[in-house]
Amino acid sequence: MKKIIFSLMVSLVLVSSLAAKIKVVTTLPDLAALVSAVGGEWVEVTSIAKGYQDPHFVDPKPSYILKLQSADLLFKIGLGLELWLEPLVIGARNAKLKVVDCSRGVPLLEVPSSVDRSMGDIHPFGNPHIWLDPANGRVFLDSIAAALKRTNPANASFYEANRAAYSKKLDSALSVWEAKLKPYAGTKVVTYHNSWPYFGERFGLVRAGFLEPKPGIAPSPSHLKELIDQMKREKIKLILMEPYFSDKDPNFIARETGAKVVKLASMVGAFNGTNDCIAMFDYDVNLLAQALKGGEPK
Ligand SMILES: [Zn+2]
Repeated sequence: MKKIIFSLMVSLVLVSSLAAKIKVVTTLPDLAALVSAVGGEWVEVTSIAKGYQDPHFVDPKPSYILKLQSADLLFKIGLGLELWLEPLVIGARNAKLKVVDCSRGVPLLEVPSSVDRSMGDIHPFGNPHIWLDPANGRVFLDSIAAALKRTNPANASFYEANRAAYSKKLDSALSVWEAKLKPYAGTKVVTYHNSWPYFGERFGLVRAGFLEPKPGIAPSPSHLKELIDQMKREKIKLILMEPYFSDKDPNFIARETGAKVVKLASMVGAFNGTNDCIAMFDYDVNLLAQALKGGEPK
């Protein structure tokens, strides 16, 4: 009898502690990592996209609808990045779900004056790859802490302390990254997709061209030929690529131009050792610094 009462009590405690957690879904793993940093044991967080995927094109699996059905909060990047999200949210029919657009408060780059989707532009409201400037992490942390406080005011001071602590950690890491890449400011690079303008602005890399003729449009032989000519003319020696593209075209260009191909983590969890925001930028900055120094990239 005692045993039964004890196990009943244990399950009651378990149930009540689970019930107290805020259920969070994020579109990107980068946002999930920041939610965990702020929410700690008071949040249960799932990211829809995985770190090695293309954030523009995520397969909307029914299991994500199930996650959204029971979620309290959904954090997204916004700016039209997650075109795959709407059918999932509609399918979940969750009236209590609060959606937080993390692009709010972020200074945007490449905002077009007119939108023409027929041109294949998947960056309709400006470049959406805002999470690749570590300084924008501070803005995300503010949005995340505000939403968690609204959802669970009893823990407001806990969320606030975590927000401040992580923000500070990010700030000091950022000054280390800036110092590492400072000697190479002004270096011209070619990138596969136009994922790196925020990263480039932060660290002084000049994006001189892209393998994709337009965001979301696969490279064509004629475009690659023009790119090769430009790289030879301008002596561009670095090609940055996201992990989710084939390296066939980048390697071909590298052979033609003598440039190096560097595969960067474009989201948290893209590679081993990139499991939170600071680890991801550490990985990318170190790899880049090594390549720019003239060493062989890993
Ligand atoms: Zn994009």
